[in-house]
Amino acid sequence: MNNYPYRINVGFLINAPVGTYRDFTIDEPSMELADDLHADNIHCGVRVSRVQQGILAEADCSCNTELECIRCLEPFTTTLKAHFEELFHFHNLRENQDEELFLPENGYMDLGELVREYLVMEVPYAPVCKEDCKGLCPICGKNLNLEPHVHPEEE
Ligand SMILES: [Zn+2]
Ligand SMILES: [Zn+2]
Repeated sequence: MNNYPYRINVGFLINAPVGTYRDFTIDEPSMELADDLHADNIHCGVRVSRVQQGILAEADCSCNTELECIRCLEPFTTTLKAHFEELFHFHNLRENQDEELFLPENGYMDLGELVREYLVMEVPYAPVCKEDCKGLCPICGKNLNLEPHVHPEEE
């Protein structure tokens, strides 16, 4: 059991020439994206590169997650895809760098929180199970995808 599945040892890059890179893939069966949002089949392709100021991580991630359609209220599974590039700076003594990421001294870069944050940003604001979802009947509340019907006009 790997407790840090999104951790990559990039120590070998610290003393490597600028431009040196290596590719990694991370596959994880599941992840909690948020309190009420579970993801399966997380896959990330990650390139880590030595740049002047530190180590650059470029990642393409995908996962499956189950959302609820806002029209028919049925759960459906969809794929989220996220891309990010984040620079992990080498430690230095300058201050006021709260916004920046730093490479831990042990040389292990942990991408777990970044992967989670970037995937969460891809969750649609108003998810629909399919473009032409017909939703629920405003009169009887039945799912119009499953039971297409019309009601006789009320007088
Ligand atoms: Zn729907
Ligand atoms: Zn109806």
